[in-house]
Amino acid sequence: MSDPVIETDALIVGAGPVALFAVFELGLVDIRAHLVDILDKPGGQCAELYPEKPIYDIPGIPVISGQEITDRLIEQAAPFEPQLHLGQMVTALERTGDGRFAVETDTGARFLAKVVVVAAGGGSFQPKRPPVPGIEDYEGTSVFYSVRRIETFRDKDLLVVGGGDSALDWTLSLAPVARSLTLMHRREQFRGAPDSVAKVMAMVDSGEIAFRLGQMTGLKGEGGQLTAVEAKAADGAFEVPCDILLPFFGLTMKLGPVADWGLNLHENLIAVDTEKFETSEAGIFAIGDINWYPGKLKLILSGFHEAALMAQAAYRIVYPGERLIFQYTTSSTSIHKKLGVSG
Ligand SMILES: Cc1cc2nc3c(=O)[nH]c(=O)nc-3n(C[C@H](O)[C@H](O)[C@H](O)COP(=O)(O)OP(=O)(O)OC[C@H]3O[C@@H](n4cnc5c(N)ncnc54)[C@H](O)[C@@H]3O)c2cc1C
Repeated sequence: MSDPVIETDALIVGAGPVALFAVFELGLVDIRAHLVDILDKPGGQCAELYPEKPIYDIPGIPVISGQEITDRLIEQAAPFEPQLHLGQMVTALERTGDGRFAVETDTGARFLAKVVVVAAGGGSFQPKRPPVPGIEDYEGTSVFYSVRRIETFRDKDLLVVGGGDSALDWTLSLAPVARSLTLMHRREQFRGAPDSVAKVMAMVDSGEIAFRLGQMTGLKGEGGQLTAVEAKAADGAFEVPCDILLPFFGLTMKLGPVADWGLNLHENLIAVDTEKFETSEAGIFAIGDINWYPGKLKLILSGFHEAALMAQAAYRIVYPGERLIFQYTTSSTSIHKKLGVSG
């Protein structure tokens, strides 16, 4: 039986920095939100692409790292209890007969929302496919670009390929459940955290896992079931017998399913007005890097401003006919109550 439909005031597509701040701005006007993100953690580009790099242009905060700003935004949004649905992609969005929006994800989660806020950034992060002929035939059966459930890989012969954090982290997490695990990388130097490299090398030294220097050239198997990966190195060609291949070659950003939702686009970005940041479809807003308007700057601070104005407009849809009184967070006792602070 499928899970029940989740009814919510606001459904936010994405859980990047702008989506997280939108939770706060919506919360101030009594709109609660569910968020869906493809990644397995919130923070969007900040957490995925540059968690340790410093950001210098957040007003009032001279320097903050990508991960730190994510953590602070999560803390700021916490009083409004955002419901996060991670590791899934919003695939379908359409208006229902009663004026709400039906939203579906690729894991089968379904939502009914009064407003939808698309905060999908550069679009969906998608794994880079290694240039190996015929790899598509094995995807989803023997070739996986992400790990959703560790149990899927129990007692299997795994080949992990790559030299970044994902390859190293998943090597460490999957080695204890796998029947055998081989890590392959084209060079001896890894791009991942030195601590992870040291742990992986210790496992290689103890014989728990194997390491091969090389580059994939081909796949062997039948009917989507892999039996070995062919590879080459400076000293010749070789094969690694395996039934699962996990290539971690990094992520690219593609617009993804957002393009299919019937919204007016401007060069692959969602066109919005600058009063409400509403799309061509009333009740669907777009904020942050995903939107376009004349003069748009793809900056976190622009997304924060857009979130504040979007929330004012969303209020009029969620609470039709009710008057919204503008209040400062500094002095409003009703806002203090919502935030659980004493003012
Ligand atoms: C290296 C680097 C340095 C940067 N430095 C700065 C800086 O110094 N200052 C600054 O202001 N900005 C900087 N930026 C830009 C800044 O990171 C972006 O402006 C910001 O992340 C945009 O936030 P967002 O929430 O709109 O989108 P994102 O951070 O891109 O988050 C969007 C989220 O939506 C999710 N998503 C997309 N499609 C779907 C879907 N269909 N279903 C579910 N989830 C979906 C994605 O997985 C992603 O997590 C930098 C960017 C990079 C790459």
